[in-house]
Amino acid sequence: MRGRFAPSPTGVLHLGNLRTALLAWLFARSAGSSFLMRVEDLDVGRVRAEFVDEQLGDLAAIGLDWDGEVVRQSLRASLYEAALARLDVYECFCTRAEIREAASAAHGPVGVYPGTCRELSPAERDARRGERLPALRVRAEHAVVGFEDRVAGHFEGVVDDFVVRRNDGAYAYNLAVVVDDGLQGVEEVVRGADLLDSTPRQIWLGRALGLPELSYAHVPLVLGPDGRRLAKRDGDVTLRELAPGDAVAWMASSLGLPPARTARELLPAFDPATLPREPTVFAPQT
Ligand SMILES: [Zn+2]
Repeated sequence: MRGRFAPSPTGVLHLGNLRTALLAWLFARSAGSSFLMRVEDLDVGRVRAEFVDEQLGDLAAIGLDWDGEVVRQSLRASLYEAALARLDVYECFCTRAEIREAASAAHGPVGVYPGTCRELSPAERDARRGERLPALRVRAEHAVVGFEDRVAGHFEGVVDDFVVRRNDGAYAYNLAVVVDDGLQGVEEVVRGADLLDSTPRQIWLGRALGLPELSYAHVPLVLGPDGRRLAKRDGDVTLRELAPGDAVAWMASSLGLPPARTARELLPAFDPATLPREPTVFAPQT
């Protein structure tokens, strides 16, 4: 099954990011599948060009390889626009604070869009257009989507009317990911467990666009000593401080795999069924 890794060039990859990339590569290559690389650089406010080559260099340094050209989302706006044109969307003028207030007034779940702008009249829309640029939301109307994750097991979530184009004009992460996976023929998504929550929305969107269903494996995260997601503040966690072989050795040990210095040495022993199901805590060596 064709796999992929899709880093966002917003910083240097740390051991948590590298381990997720390694796992995505191991899932694909251990099954003899192709493996694609895609740079998710849509968020112009956070993306920094110099990290693109640095991240790809770090992935190559631990022994990962990929097939074909690296795809960059920033060059694919016309594809996202074409997908958007096939969806039932409406303009939303809400600020984050307004969404929070409306959701709590309606005793709705936190973080779920309460539908404020779904039924605005043309006159109301015109009035609000003068105040604020709209985001576009897709009409999903609280569909429930469940799926079987290869690592996390059964998972389901309610799909609210989520944003597919932000009010600054940027295509939303959820839209771009689904369109790209579909167009690139990706069959298996291996990524961090922090993205499990967004998966029901992406499955719903893939169905709305008539794309094939994907297989998902959301792998456990690496946490810092404080129990939060690993970050640069947690010490020597990037290849700026660690030799690639030492990084692979740590990742292998954290995954219960035999000692190794490169990704390729891990292939013979890799078995998705024996992956740890719990996060790993990174303890800095003192
Ligand atoms: Zn709204």
